[in-house]
Amino acid sequence: MIYTDNRLLSAGLVGGTCSRHHGNMRDISAQNNVYKALNIPPEKILHFHQTHSDKIISITSAQEAAQFAASPEQDADAWLFTVPGWGAAIQTADCVPLFLFDERGRAFALAHCGWRGVVNRLPFKTACALKNTGRCGKIFGWLGPHIQVCCFEVQADVAAQFSPTSLHRKDGKIFVNLNLEILGQLKEAGLNPLDIKTPYYCTCGDEKNFFSWRRDHVRQNLLSFIYKP
Ligand SMILES: [Zn+2]
Repeated sequence: MIYTDNRLLSAGLVGGTCSRHHGNMRDISAQNNVYKALNIPPEKILHFHQTHSDKIISITSAQEAAQFAASPEQDADAWLFTVPGWGAAIQTADCVPLFLFDERGRAFALAHCGWRGVVNRLPFKTACALKNTGRCGKIFGWLGPHIQVCCFEVQADVAAQFSPTSLHRKDGKIFVNLNLEILGQLKEAGLNPLDIKTPYYCTCGDEKNFFSWRRDHVRQNLLSFIYKP
């Protein structure tokens, strides 16, 4: 199953997050099977080396895209596109795949937001970068499957880095609600929270459908991708 948002399709984009049934996406052939099934040319999907940073790579021309396709080991955690014919993938196993896109697909972004990326304000910075392209009308957002507040217990040192309103305390434990934290940042960037969808799929709590680093401590990843034909 591929979890997705209908508004991506309406914007002329192809994208979403694959369940674990598609395989461990550290294996490139598992990725290629997904692309093939959707008629996406695998060589048009860009990759980077994820480091939980706030670095965004902007692709504004086919030349730039080709350059990054030739050097996939660059460090970054978000993609931003203003050209068709290309797309990108990220891998997660509890982190948030954050999709942001113009209602007509003229510009689109995909960010890998772990808690460190969220603390580094990657959602805010990605939303601002998308707005600054000048190619967006209404901006829609969708958060793919990730660890939800039910399972994301943290210690006090991590909790201290989040807004108090994004924390949930229960039985002496502290849990972080990444959805609330990200919504807050997107709102601050000028997006309408009503245009951001945060479906409740918990990678850690739903073993049948998702890989989870926190649950299994095994290097198995889910794939999220976005592409404009
Ligand atoms: Zn959970």
